[in-house]
Amino acid sequence: MDELRRFCCQNPDCPDAGKRGHGNLTVTMRYGPDKLRRMLRCSTCKARFSERKGTPLFASPLPTERVVSILAHVAEGIGTRKTTRLTCVHQDTVTRYIRQAGDQAHQLHNELVAFSPDDERCPVR
Ligand SMILES: [Zn+2]
Repeated sequence: MDELRRFCCQNPDCPDAGKRGHGNLTVTMRYGPDKLRRMLRCSTCKARFSERKGTPLFASPLPTERVVSILAHVAEGIGTRKTTRLTCVHQDTVTRYIRQAGDQAHQLHNELVAFSPDDERCPVR
């Protein structure tokens, strides 16, 4: 049995979109290298999507290990230029993954944290 509690429907028009562990997802097939990636299906809206959708790994041309390495360097506070040198990728690639991960981390933060204190430095919410 596949563990799907951390996943939710990615269709924004679905009434169950964003509901984790709702029981509406099933694995329809496996794909990718060694068939390790799962294709999920929502029983509510019938949409199918990759388990990687909504992550920096979705449609990534780089292998998973390299993306994880890039983001691990950034998470440790290592700057873009140093990360570029340490992971042997172009600076624009590092910047792209930082943007993707940052946007997705922001969405996850809004989902998991009920209240965030006001921050005068960032008037946009
Ligand atoms: Zn759905």
